[in-house]
Amino acid sequence: MDQGIIKNVAVNEDLTPLLELAGRVGRNPLLTQASTGNISLKLDGVLWVKASGKWLADAAGGKILIPLDLTAVRATIRQNIDPAELYPNASIETAMHVTLPHPVVLHVHSINTIAWAVREGAPAELKTRLEGLRWQWIPYVASGLPLAREIQRVLSLRPDTDVLVLGNHGLVLGGKDCQATRNLLDEIERRLEVPPREAHPADYALLAELAADSSWDLPDDDAIHALATDPVTRKILEGGFLYPCQAMFSDARTPELFHAVQADGTDLTGYSGRPFLIIQGRGVVLSKGMTAAEIAMLSGLSQVVQRIGASTLLRYLTEEEVTAGASTAAYRYRELANTSHS
Ligand SMILES: [Zn+2]
Repeated sequence: MDQGIIKNVAVNEDLTPLLELAGRVGRNPLLTQASTGNISLKLDGVLWVKASGKWLADAAGGKILIPLDLTAVRATIRQNIDPAELYPNASIETAMHVTLPHPVVLHVHSINTIAWAVREGAPAELKTRLEGLRWQWIPYVASGLPLAREIQRVLSLRPDTDVLVLGNHGLVLGGKDCQATRNLLDEIERRLEVPPREAHPADYALLAELAADSSWDLPDDDAIHALATDPVTRKILEGGFLYPCQAMFSDARTPELFHAVQADGTDLTGYSGRPFLIIQGRGVVLSKGMTAAEIAMLSGLSQVVQRIGASTLLRYLTEEEVTAGASTAAYRYRELANTSHS
């Protein structure tokens, strides 16, 4: 296998705009959660791509980037080899970054975009909202090489595409430089903005009682409680998985994790081992063992579901997609758990 895939080049000032954009995006929880989202720059034969497991928020200094030989990475795609398999330290979406022709490529798990991208009628709804932009819809497909192949297919139909909305997943943008990419991102966020529904406040007194002298904690992010206090949110979560990141919490593929439980007195002993508990009508408690990455994922989920109406037809992941995605998700999850975010 080609071991010459990594380039021996140092982070330099040419990367400053990229790192600034990465940090700005990474610090916005409506755009990325934990180590999700990735960015790349094609420069002088090098593909600078986000390293696997790193948080975009930690971009300053450039340690989140890996330099790969652009020609070598392109060759792996032609040989039907996923560059992320060949070089696991690179982003799982390296194949996507090299397939798009743009100098700058940005992939985000935008809350507003996902709130549209999980709907049955997403392509038609997006058509109105993204009118005039060079965009295309890609129905859900697994990350890595399968997604890169779909991108190749839609680019062959319209080579000038610079926005991709990924069903049950997120948003991909390409730009000639960082400023153009940032402008495009701002424009799309503006057009796809959905105000979140207001949820009933949590029952903090009960939650504090439940958490006292226990392995449970209250989340710092109050918005997480909407998973329990908003009836529409609860109903949506009972329908299934909306996107693969949800499978990070349960390699056993247990959708019950996202179903609300009744608080039976103050005894939660039957639920030990769970990462979090959605307590119907009351609020959410988190296991003290939950990682920052997991909590960020849960916050993101709450934000997405708060932007979906009660009567909206949703396109949940199929059982097959969840099963196929779970191994990747479990792998990513271990990696997320092992990554300390500074
Ligand atoms: Zn993604």
